[in-house]
Amino acid sequence: MQQTKILLDESEIPTHWYNVVADMPNPPAPPLGPDGKPIGPDALAAIFPMALIEQEVSAERWIPIPDEVRQFLTMWRPSPLFRAHRLEQMLGTPAKIFYKYEGISPAGSHKPNTAVAQAYYNKQEGIKRLTTETGAGQWGSSLALVGNKFGLDVRVYMVKVSYEQKPFRRSMMQTWGAEVLPSPTNLTNSGRHILAQDPDSQGSLGIAISEAVEEAASRDDTNYSLGSVLNHVLLHQTVIGLETRKQLEKVGEYPDVIFAPCGGGSNVGGMMFPFFADKAAGKDIRLVAVEPASCPTLTRGHYAYDFGDTEGLTPLMLMYTLGHDFMPPGIHAGGLRYHGDSPLVSQLYKEGYLEAQAVSQIATFEAGVTFARAEGIVAAPESCHAIRAAMDEALRCKETGEAKTILFTLSGHGHFDMASYDKYFAGELEDYDYPEQAIHDALERLPKVG
Ligand SMILES: *Cc1c(COP(=O)(O)O)cnc(C)c1O
Repeated sequence: MQQTKILLDESEIPTHWYNVVADMPNPPAPPLGPDGKPIGPDALAAIFPMALIEQEVSAERWIPIPDEVRQFLTMWRPSPLFRAHRLEQMLGTPAKIFYKYEGISPAGSHKPNTAVAQAYYNKQEGIKRLTTETGAGQWGSSLALVGNKFGLDVRVYMVKVSYEQKPFRRSMMQTWGAEVLPSPTNLTNSGRHILAQDPDSQGSLGIAISEAVEEAASRDDTNYSLGSVLNHVLLHQTVIGLETRKQLEKVGEYPDVIFAPCGGGSNVGGMMFPFFADKAAGKDIRLVAVEPASCPTLTRGHYAYDFGDTEGLTPLMLMYTLGHDFMPPGIHAGGLRYHGDSPLVSQLYKEGYLEAQAVSQIATFEAGVTFARAEGIVAAPESCHAIRAAMDEALRCKETGEAKTILFTLSGHGHFDMASYDKYFAGELEDYDYPEQAIHDALERLPKVG
């Protein structure tokens, strides 16, 4: 029999997170305050616990995972690594395809990996409530799941269009005890400001972040929690790549190329950073972030200091951006509709260590359907971006006869996304390239620094 699942024991869950900053050739660019000067830890203390702020600026290579966090992770970790024999056969490729499946977490994606750590440190520092935003609902679900376990109240500002389109994501969050509000709301200055301009606003991740940050900053018992982008989030996600390395070692393999879907960059960092030191030392391995052509942050955005939210409440971060007032087109990979990207991923892309590809919507669903029919798993629309890129690579191998080893993150399942699959089957999905003019115009509205 061929081996399909490569599994680890619970005792093999990593004991430390890997911090890529220790191996980066250049130090990360610092976040800036409103005065254009680098901010100190105090500027973040109103909304984050000190332990996470320390991780945000740390250059230590290995950071211990607290026992309580590791114990919580056993709820679904270690996650399986699959060899996609059936897909390889269906494609007729000589390539070997492996995928790390993060959809087995209770929330259905990789996002609980960081939610656990964030809830833990907030609890440790006496915080009672967390606010956050959610787009597609994956992050809100993850925080709802762990908030409940740690006895923290969770309020989720859910982008209005998703709130209406994905009622079952909302029920899932409520099942775990979170409060869910359609954003923009009337409860914050940020929400009221947006509604005054557009009473029918369907919301965006940038707006929902403004609301959640504003509320957390105004209350002592409340902190804010972000599901992607920040250094500490990517750090927590490195359990993905660390486990994968061990799993591949067990079968004597090493990837030639890794693909991961890229929204804010957390599963890209989580999977790829543990392979980065090898790459920096000259190893021949390609690390490729895959994003939607409709939200082409890395492939067509500006590398510039910008806000993380629409209202300009967050520090300025140096990253690839489509502009903080970006209004995303209504594509179905909700988790990939963010205007910016992780500063760490952005810098490594700028410096040529990471690559990026943009793929169009219909092609991603086509890949998702092929994958489901071969491997059984119905993938999240976000994950279908990585599947598309991995399949294209495998098909190139078929032409050249190369037996490459291809690895990708299957970041989540698509069980709450069947309405999107329905639209695909009905031929109602459209491809949409983000217009050049909008990218050009965003440049003028970027905050001026330096
Ligand atoms: C949120 C999400 C993503 C994108 O977020 P990253 O921070 O870029 O990883 C990708 N896939 C799934 C299933 C998600 O929920």
